[in-house]
Amino acid sequence: MDAVVSHDGFTSEVIPLRHFFGTRQVPSGLEAFIRLGEVTVGPPSFPFIASLKQIHSTRVVVIDSPVTLGAMSDGEADALVTNQPNLLLVVRTADCVPVLMVDPKVGVIGAVHAGWRGAVGGIIPRTIQTCVEQFGADVANLHVAIGPSIGLCCYEVDAPVIEPLHSGYPDWQGVLQETSNGKGMLDLKQLLWHQTLSSGIPEGQVERLEYCTRCREDLFFSYRREGKVMGTMMSGIILPGD
Ligand SMILES: [Zn+2]
Repeated sequence: MDAVVSHDGFTSEVIPLRHFFGTRQVPSGLEAFIRLGEVTVGPPSFPFIASLKQIHSTRVVVIDSPVTLGAMSDGEADALVTNQPNLLLVVRTADCVPVLMVDPKVGVIGAVHAGWRGAVGGIIPRTIQTCVEQFGADVANLHVAIGPSIGLCCYEVDAPVIEPLHSGYPDWQGVLQETSNGKGMLDLKQLLWHQTLSSGIPEGQVERLEYCTRCREDLFFSYRREGKVMGTMMSGIILPGD
């Protein structure tokens, strides 16, 4: 899977599977079709869309049968996994990390919203495990793309983040540069990268986009930069229909 910041949905030349990490603008018009926590009818290029009420949890929603329109009973969650074609899985982020995954052999995809809380809680290994246990995916065949998020350059954290990181993530020294006054710079993408490799995904199948959402005002919204939610980027992945 290519990890590409796209100005529209695109088809990867590596794996013929449409997926995108959106910017401020895009994918244009898609937002109008989305209702959080529901499965909705999309535009012709994306027949159905599933999105979540994201709550910084480690909850994974599995859709393993033909979609039913309307509210999902478990729509408060932070990861979506499906084997159903024509269903676009969407996650929204402003500084958190969007992560997309696919096992092209068995035909299962996942989309994850990972902030520090979900990351430390293990939402990435949990989503990978769901692909394996519920759909027969093989970690040797999974491809993972880690999208644009706040970078190490801009992500200063303090005790409310550092303490759970120390207690919940044994390898914290590899992702946190402690500074003064009990603060530190957190490399959230690196944390997710480590967890993905630790889950058994071959390194050559893990892509990451080094864009920092706070630095790149031209491309992205950033909660940290703007001090409030001005907007979110959408990222998505869809299995083709027959
Ligand atoms: Zn930055």
